[in-house]
Amino acid sequence: MNGLTPLKEAQRVVLDAAASLGCEKVGLLNALGRVLGEDIVAPRDNPPWNNSAMDGFAVRWEDIKKDHAITKPAELAVVEDVPAGQVATKTVGPGQAIRIMTGAPMPDGADTVVRVEFTEPSDAGVRIFQPEPQGANIRPKGEDVQEGDCIIPTGTQLRPAEIGMLAILAKSFVVVHQRPRVAILSTGDELADLDEKFDENKIVNSNSYGIAAAVQEAGGIPLLLGIAKDTPASLKEKISHGLGCDVLVLSGGVSMGDYDFTKAVFAELGADMHFWKLAIRPGQPVAFGKIQGTLAFGLPGNPVSSMVTFEQLVRLAVMKMGGYRHVARPVVQAAFQETFSKRPDRRHFLRGILEHHDGRLTVRTTGPQGSGILTSMVKANGLIDIPEEVETINPGDIVQVQVLSQNF
Ligand code: AMP
Ligand code: MG
Repeated sequence: MNGLTPLKEAQRVVLDAAASLGCEKVGLLNALGRVLGEDIVAPRDNPPWNNSAMDGFAVRWEDIKKDHAITKPAELAVVEDVPAGQVATKTVGPGQAIRIMTGAPMPDGADTVVRVEFTEPSDAGVRIFQPEPQGANIRPKGEDVQEGDCIIPTGTQLRPAEIGMLAILAKSFVVVHQRPRVAILSTGDELADLDEKFDENKIVNSNSYGIAAAVQEAGGIPLLLGIAKDTPASLKEKISHGLGCDVLVLSGGVSMGDYDFTKAVFAELGADMHFWKLAIRPGQPVAFGKIQGTLAFGLPGNPVSSMVTFEQLVRLAVMKMGGYRHVARPVVQAAFQETFSKRPDRRHFLRGILEHHDGRLTVRTTGPQGSGILTSMVKANGLIDIPEEVETINPGDIVQVQVLSQNF
């Protein structure tokens, strides 16, 4: 297609080139958000024994069953009182009960726990004025976790639930994937950095910061290389600083005006390039290859284009290198609220606002879609994915939307 690589093919090429990095061990309290690098297999059942789900009395159901209780409340002798953390030493015999706390192991002989609210003290020990079904209020051994089961598979990003489970399994350290180091370089004589004296003729280098944040969101470690001038020497020098990293992300310098010398500098550094142009909008000029073992992306300079192309390509690579099992954003279907037309060539990503309306999902654009309008990304909670061949979308048509944030 006129030198443009379809996005699907570009994604396949990028994912093929991105291998997951090695692992490291971290303490459990530092593991939140990290990506698990080992299958977590339960070394024992949880709970490890049948235990009481209530504060109450462990009894033999025979002694309290309904008929008996209706005519006359059951009177049982309390033969032991088991406080929290203790284990009963006695067996529950006929006519007997053991006072038990929530979570305590079930004493031998008992098959039912009567909650304390159904009882009152009596001369004999305890009076049970309301029966429970046989087996009531017992949590069986292994109801949560069974020994030998894979509880959390490798590649899972750890949330509070997984951290709690790892603690149940007594893992004070956990093996996680290393985070990819991503060097970020902005290019262009028109750019000034945030810490430079403000010059009205310059454009603030916003891409480095937006891209750095996107790298962090994808689980990587960003390293800012600053701004390269539009000269081969400056570009080569700055790129060289990033070549120790796992990934290098350039922004600017790959559109028509700069393309030739970026291409020359890449070639001088021994780059093995896979593509230079993508069949998407925004973001046609996108380069990808390998320079001395570092995955190198050249993204367009326009702020929206750099973010959208990061989303579609760099994010996948960073997440795969970081060991994630799932690298794609969630995709939802929503009813489009506007009319949109394009030529049946490139895949489009419109910045969209997903909303719930009367129980169904709708999506509208954020407004003007120019690639320099970064408020379109600020307002968006999704990217509306319009396939290559589509020409027109009408109100009510169902479209696919990549979910960028859960704010809808
Ligand atoms: P380029 O892709 O190098 O032709 O850049 C296209 C346009 O994107 C430039 O005219 C700048 O306005 C803008 N641009 C390039 N790099 C950055 C950057 N790092 N931060 C913000 N805007 C940029
Ligand atoms: Mg430029």
